[in-house]
Amino acid sequence: MDGDWRTIIEPFRIKSVEPLRFTTLEERERALERTGYNVFGLGRAEVLIDLLTDSGTGAMSAEQWAGMQRGDESYAGATSYDRFATAVSELTGMAHVIPVHQGRAAERILFAEMVHQGDIVPNNTHFDTTRANIEYDKAEAIDLPCAEADDTQAEAPFKGNMDVERLSSTLAANPGRVPLVILTVTNNTVGGQPVSMANVRAVRAVCDRFGVPLVLDAARFAENSWLVIQREDGYRDRTPREVAQELFSLADGVMMSAKKDGLANIGGFLALRDDELAANCRALLILTEGFPTYGGLAGRDLEAIAQGLQEVLDPDYLRYRVRTAEYLAQRCWDAGVQTVRPPGGHAVYIDAGAMLAHVPRAAFPAHALVVELYRLGGVRAVEVGSVMFGPAAQHELVRLALPRRVYTQSHIDYVAEVIQAVYERRTGVGGYQIVWEPPFLRHFTARFAPV
Ligand SMILES: *Cc1c(COP(=O)(O)O)cnc(C)c1O
Repeated sequence: MDGDWRTIIEPFRIKSVEPLRFTTLEERERALERTGYNVFGLGRAEVLIDLLTDSGTGAMSAEQWAGMQRGDESYAGATSYDRFATAVSELTGMAHVIPVHQGRAAERILFAEMVHQGDIVPNNTHFDTTRANIEYDKAEAIDLPCAEADDTQAEAPFKGNMDVERLSSTLAANPGRVPLVILTVTNNTVGGQPVSMANVRAVRAVCDRFGVPLVLDAARFAENSWLVIQREDGYRDRTPREVAQELFSLADGVMMSAKKDGLANIGGFLALRDDELAANCRALLILTEGFPTYGGLAGRDLEAIAQGLQEVLDPDYLRYRVRTAEYLAQRCWDAGVQTVRPPGGHAVYIDAGAMLAHVPRAAFPAHALVVELYRLGGVRAVEVGSVMFGPAAQHELVRLALPRRVYTQSHIDYVAEVIQAVYERRTGVGGYQIVWEPPFLRHFTARFAPV
């Protein structure tokens, strides 16, 4: 029977627990009034199941906690740095490993060196901080997602891919203005969709033709590697580590938020091949992050990441991880709720525009669904629609992000039940208007009122 069981169980048992607090409908309604119907204003004890983000919210293993105890806090030359740098170098094949406190610090430092006023930086789709750091340097961040990414219902296996034709024409039309090309794996913004190895190779070939370096935004490299094994011809018999190593072998640099596939609560790194570029980045690192062997992290954080990078490539972990998103998506479909297809690695995205078709865009249907999931069941999700992006929003989506190794199947079953209950009473769900908003990034702090 080896491997033939249908139930995919959590590949861990629980050693340390954190109680959940149950609230009443009345308490949740009061909390919503207090926060101006914005779930970012809720306290942890007001939320039952928190699917706001998968960033920094994962559970660490016993080995990671052991590493925390071993953390060497020497200012320079710490053994924890050696362990961290070895783990990153072995994985990426890159000689230079620069620790940073989060992925966005890697972005800021690398772009300060590489990106200049008037430059153009293509990406399959920029993450919001990546775009902001490029625009801060007075350059233009352009998204070149593949055509399939537009259609939330298309079942294409690699909707995270870059449009290679458009990359090629962009490079041809802008000689000397493109300092680097970025590929984000998985493509977070289009639904945690993977990038195929064939696409990475094609992008690499275009970069070579124009002499432009390729940098990976690798926050979810392990989930991407697993989806390559599942979906791409020729990878079925490869290990996640082998696929990840092949992925990194095609790049000149890596920016990584370790709060995702580093299985850590904080941290990140920049890994580079070029000696001179790395030396310049280290010089900037010292200005704002710290000495090159800790870069804004404690020795114990470096230990947790070094260990996390091993554990995240365990096939049993990745099977469970990707299965969780598939399972929740399937439960949504069974209930008649549409999601972005196919489910990605780290989250399920509900099509709130379809579910609450009677709520006009101007009344923020995705926001209305987020409020109702919390009001009815204490589940916290996040709006990815007109509140976040304004009139430029392409879709009205609600993201249910899955923290790593935190919730069990019964938690996910409960979330599915809440979604179904909201769906059944959807015609009673009304829209919202904004009554106060800040000048930028309004989704974090805006206040709303029911219309
Ligand atoms: C989270 C994330 C970042 C930024 O990382 P932080 O650690 O949050 O600063 C960059 N790119 C992608 C794709 C991400 O998911």
